[in-house]
Amino acid sequence: MDIRVGHGYDVHALAEGLPLFLGGVKIEHTKGCVAHSDGDVAIHAICDALLGALALGDIGKLFPDTSAEFKGIDSKILLRRVCDVVEQEGYSISNVDCTIAMQRPKLRPHIDTMRATLAEVMGLSVDRVSVKATTTERLGFEGREEGVSTHAVVLLIKHV
Ligand code: MG
Repeated sequence: MDIRVGHGYDVHALAEGLPLFLGGVKIEHTKGCVAHSDGDVAIHAICDALLGALALGDIGKLFPDTSAEFKGIDSKILLRRVCDVVEQEGYSISNVDCTIAMQRPKLRPHIDTMRATLAEVMGLSVDRVSVKATTTERLGFEGREEGVSTHAVVLLIKHV
């Protein structure tokens, strides 16, 4: 059995008046992520973790932010494409865990919707998808509500 671990990290700046997408879910807030895509920082970190496990680079290599094809794109589409790459490489996803760092709004009410959404896109059962959220106690860019970051780890398994 070949087991691979992958880590991903992503950050986006927040700006007033933009829609906020996290974990594939639209969240009501006064600010959203500045991005070429829909700015779903959680999905981007998960994509990077999946690609990292396979040493295939990162999401920017697969989906260049200079390409018109990806302008404003729903990040769920990017995640599905990355999962397709994982399958093509012969691996299956054992589990995903991510932590979103954001001061406001409270993300707890949205966590289970994010888990269900991500699980469906990735073709996994919900118990294999963990989404956690933390404030940074008002410290740093997340704490000042200037941006949002996400760390993600994944485990891939290939039966050989
Ligand atoms: Mg990103």
